Amino acid sequence: MVVVMAPEATQEDIEAVVELVRAAGGDAFVSRGVSRTIVGLVGDVQDFEALNLGARRGVLQVMRVSAPYKLVSREHHAARSVIRVGGVPIGPGTLSLIAGPCAVESAEQTLQAALLARKAGASLLRGGAFKPRTSPYSYQGLGEAGLRILAEVRAETGLPVVTEVIDPADVDMVASYADMLQVGARNMQNFALLQAVGRSGRPVLLKRGLSATIDEWLSAAEYIAQRGNLDIVLCERGIRTFESATRNTLDISAVPVVQRLSHLPVIVDPSHSGGRRDLVVPLARAALAAGADGVIVDVHPRPDQALCDGEQALTGDDIREIADAVTILSPLMGRSLAMPLAARPGTRRVARAN
Ligand code: PEP
Ligand code: MN
Repeated sequence: MVVVMAPEATQEDIEAVVELVRAAGGDAFVSRGVSRTIVGLVGDVQDFEALNLGARRGVLQVMRVSAPYKLVSREHHAARSVIRVGGVPIGPGTLSLIAGPCAVESAEQTLQAALLARKAGASLLRGGAFKPRTSPYSYQGLGEAGLRILAEVRAETGLPVVTEVIDPADVDMVASYADMLQVGARNMQNFALLQAVGRSGRPVLLKRGLSATIDEWLSAAEYIAQRGNLDIVLCERGIRTFESATRNTLDISAVPVVQRLSHLPVIVDPSHSGGRRDLVVPLARAALAAGADGVIVDVHPRPDQALCDGEQALTGDDIREIADAVTILSPLMGRSLAMPLAARPGTRRVARAN
């Protein structure tokens, strides 16, 4: 931490800061410049924060120089992590395609979407049973009945399931059906939810908030990690900018930036970024070429009848295009395409009881 003293700070003000820091068990080093003095602090940042140095006389600014997250940082864990979801790896060395409907609407629609996902080369099935909709009048999802459909479709297709949870009180129930819990963009800073999924024992897909900085996103991941769960995959899904031609602006630079800061895998959602079917495959290609560990895309057997986000769902010929993108790009990026256990020779998936 660095304390910048105001130009009018007196010697007494500077000494008071140094004494406080030393009394808290840290050390302080004073550097005098031409126009101002800065005090560098060495020790536990949390102890220093409790001193509220910013409110002391003569202090202009207090700045953190280390990241506000530890457990998810590469500083403490240099090797990039591989997370396993229902036995399927996500992380360096593999390229994961996650696909499925935005929302679970019926058993038939979900199964058809899962078959499209499998045809595209997906190793995991996505699908929302609890939908965090901007308007309370929009389709809210089937709730637990939707989770039962997802479990049935998993048993039929062998695809492990990732699904969103929006209420901390529902985490255990959703975790009893899902292989991975999704925390959506709108809930990225729902700290009670982050802590609950952190205790759930299930891997977590943490989407970036609509207007979240990378630091805020990684701090949100730290909440999950702090509860003992390091099985976290980060998902860039576009951010709010002045641009209105697309639903969100895909921040492609987030992929290498986050991979440098954090050991957690990073995937990209080109469907919710662009918001338009014609953009999904080009954005997916860009994400994979930038080094993303995978992509998550919406697919639907009849997008014109979809109850949620039909305009961005892939279908028909698009399935071959996304399949080509992942199969062509994976060897170029030095990765092998992740496969569900059921699709691997010599393995058989046992259906779960729930
Ligand atoms: C979703 O993936 O279904 C979703 C709602 O996405 P986001 O939270 O990124 O808006
Ligand atoms: Mn959606």
